[in-house]
Amino acid sequence: MTARNTTQSAYEIFLNAACDRLGYSKSTISLLSLAALEMKVEIPIIRDNGELAVFSGYRVQHQNVRGPCKGGLRYHPNVDIEEVRGLASLMTMKTALVDIPLGGGKGGICCNPRELSTRELEVLTRKFVKRIHREIGPNSDIMAPDVGTNAQVMGWIHSEYSAIYGHSPAAVTGKPLALGGSAGREKATGYGIGIVMKAYAERYDAPLNGATVAIQGFGNVGFHAAKALSDLGMKIVAVSDARSSVYREGGVDLSALAKQKSERGLLTDVEGHETLEAGRELEVECDYLVPAAMGGVITAENADKIKARTVIEGANGPVTSDADRLLRDRGVTVVPDILANSGGVVVSYFEWVQNLQRVAWPLERVDDELTRILSNAAQQVFNHAAQKGLDLRSAAFDIAVSRVKEALDVTGI
Ligand code: GLU
Repeated sequence: MTARNTTQSAYEIFLNAACDRLGYSKSTISLLSLAALEMKVEIPIIRDNGELAVFSGYRVQHQNVRGPCKGGLRYHPNVDIEEVRGLASLMTMKTALVDIPLGGGKGGICCNPRELSTRELEVLTRKFVKRIHREIGPNSDIMAPDVGTNAQVMGWIHSEYSAIYGHSPAAVTGKPLALGGSAGREKATGYGIGIVMKAYAERYDAPLNGATVAIQGFGNVGFHAAKALSDLGMKIVAVSDARSSVYREGGVDLSALAKQKSERGLLTDVEGHETLEAGRELEVECDYLVPAAMGGVITAENADKIKARTVIEGANGPVTSDADRLLRDRGVTVVPDILANSGGVVVSYFEWVQNLQRVAWPLERVDDELTRILSNAAQQVFNHAAQKGLDLRSAAFDIAVSRVKEALDVTGI
């Protein structure tokens, strides 16, 4: 086990605890800790200024016993093999928890997409696909958007893959609608946070109307989560992006902030909103906290400063394993990532199904099926936690790990 506080080290701690509770052998633990396939490729591109630059790209396929590997592709300077491995493992547990016939994978390119032009990003993406195309595809490993990537990047992947194998929309999800993307995919992760929030509030009799929320992140997940939660009547008191953070006691003005962000690239200087120091949005007075940006942001150092009574993990791995324990000791409930943010991969699954069948579902169908799947998964987690006296993450891991183990057993491993 690694000493560093990474997504992989947290995953191993949660996995080990689940396997202990379930009475699984050491060999099962090591099988589920390890990835089935790890790829690292070097991608040279000519920058717009004529200079050569080389970027490292990764794709990890963790498990495919329940279905093809599934998971996002991340463009961020912190991408490395260990982080991608941890994120791929979480995808195995996420797809198992919501019980869709897919496994877990994740990829990334270590780069800062803000510093690359559209042309440079396109070349980088297409070259990455050229390097790994033999290992990906509709029946083996299906990529999707993640931090720093979007529908446009998925469109390039689709185009490059299809140039080799013929039109293959099911090889990648989160595509633009014009290329076979699904209605409702873009908002799915944030919208799903709203569905899980509602299920949580109903189960634990927590009033949503007027409850206060702070959200870290105003990208695809944070923005759509803010919309979904305010549609539930909740009051968003703080939001942030990578460079700015704002607070308003009476509730922020989401459309004014979205306008400011698209025009000026920052959330600050909107009338009536107070600017906060970076990271302070995690510590404001509120009922719910939704870290929806990067991993490892709630740590042993700041866990005691969190005032929210419930943390909903919009990002993957935002709470380190040490912080998870400290929050639990303080009676703070954590709704784990593999449940809270699973709306994205569920609608990716719908997109894959639609592409394989060459059909397109209307938005109402996508939203209804998503609500059914997420509400079921949430109820299963809440029931299991109540029956076994577990916190929600442990309950979610127990359900997910036992589903993967059952599939391994009947496969004959
Ligand atoms: N990147 C998202 C996640 O972490 C979505 C993955 C997908 O749609 O395959 O869940």
